[in-house]
Amino acid sequence: MSAKVLIVGGGILGSMHAFHAVQSGHTVVQLEREADARGASVRNFGLVWVSGRATGADLELSLRARELWERVAESVPGTGFRPNGSLTVVTDPAELAVLEQVCARSDAGLRGFELLDAEGVREHNPAVRGDVLAGMLCRQDAAVEPRLVPRAIRAELEKSGRYEFHAGVEIAAVDDVPSGVLLRDSTGKTWSADQAIVCTGAWHNGVAAPWLRDVETVPVRRVRLHMMQTESLGETLTTSVADADSLRYYPGFDVPALSVMPAQEPSARQWGMQLLMVQRNNGGLTIGDTHMYDEPFGFDVEERPYELLARKAERVLGHRIPRIERRWTGVYSQLAPGVGDSVSGAVGQGIYYHREVVPDVRLVTGPGGRGMTHSPAIAEQTFKAAGLL
Ligand SMILES: Cc1cc2nc3c(=O)[nH]c(=O)nc-3n(C[C@H](O)[C@H](O)[C@H](O)COP(=O)(O)OP(=O)(O)OC[C@H]3O[C@@H](n4cnc5c(N)ncnc54)[C@H](O)[C@@H]3O)c2cc1C
Repeated sequence: MSAKVLIVGGGILGSMHAFHAVQSGHTVVQLEREADARGASVRNFGLVWVSGRATGADLELSLRARELWERVAESVPGTGFRPNGSLTVVTDPAELAVLEQVCARSDAGLRGFELLDAEGVREHNPAVRGDVLAGMLCRQDAAVEPRLVPRAIRAELEKSGRYEFHAGVEIAAVDDVPSGVLLRDSTGKTWSADQAIVCTGAWHNGVAAPWLRDVETVPVRRVRLHMMQTESLGETLTTSVADADSLRYYPGFDVPALSVMPAQEPSARQWGMQLLMVQRNNGGLTIGDTHMYDEPFGFDVEERPYELLARKAERVLGHRIPRIERRWTGVYSQLAPGVGDSVSGAVGQGIYYHREVVPDVRLVTGPGGRGMTHSPAIAEQTFKAAGLL
């Protein structure tokens, strides 16, 4: 049965839901309060990151998403999808022990892991010329161009004749109606459909606020990250690159050797820092990141984490990074710690937040630092739950 679906939010979750709906034969009206997507989806690394996902539902969802990303890219080459893989590099034997245990796990094959010595790292990614002891290759990791993805998806959907995008429309409320759904925007105009999917990201104080506060524990929190982008590297970084601090942040690396890894440098710990580097299609490097949890977040961008990140990147590359041409921060919405356990089994499986907040209106948010990765698989799960497949 073909339905009319309203999608609120022009980020990656909104866009992937729109894509999935149109592909499944539905008619879509997508509403974005800004002129274009402006949240986490265009501020991220564009990593489709299987390597660090937790064993079980999280890994399964990321593998499904990885498959779906490849399919989306067949119809939308403008996403910039490339299966470039990643290298997590280490400099210390205790860090190497973590990689060895991760590579010995039964799901290492599913993730496409391979342990490389220093020479193997350089052979695989000649731009990595720093003081590296070893590296773990993940063949399943991939990358997209985050700033281009929402627009590229929309351009493809417009060809269907069953898709409309309205920028500058802020949904403020959901009206009570006997059947179907009626959303009201900030000018009072109403938008009707059979079903609605609300993907408003980290805007927890907006239209989603009453739904997030009417549960026992607020299910999501916000996290702020620092990011930068350099001019062209002048050579190819054949894979995305992570440093050993990333082993501390991703649940997929939770092996016994993690507890005996040397303590994180105090300055890196203060900023919740790990090094991730992705080469953009124009040759520049996106470099990050930090993790800040205490609100209110500063309105300004602190310089110190950038100095630390640049130093870390230069240690791995073995040379100066090109001039930094952009800096920004981004905020994502993440399922609050502990909430995941209580909702496993529900849609979202404790990985993101999905709730039918009023009949036929679903709020989908909180995928945290994995939302770009999981987005196509999250959209698939929503449509299954809504009976729209
Ligand atoms: C710096 C950074 C790096 C990251 N790196 C990665 C990565 O490499 N890989 C990965 O998998 N994940 C990554 N993530 C996480 C990922 O970016 C997010 O999980 C994902 O983008 C969330 O998408 P979203 O569509 O829910 O939110 P958003 O992108 O924030 O989109 C929400 C949209 O809704 C709009 N909106 C809000 N309220 C309304 C309203 N009332 N009416 C209409 N429109 C509204 C907003 O303007 C916004 O455009 C990163 C996040 C950040 C911040």
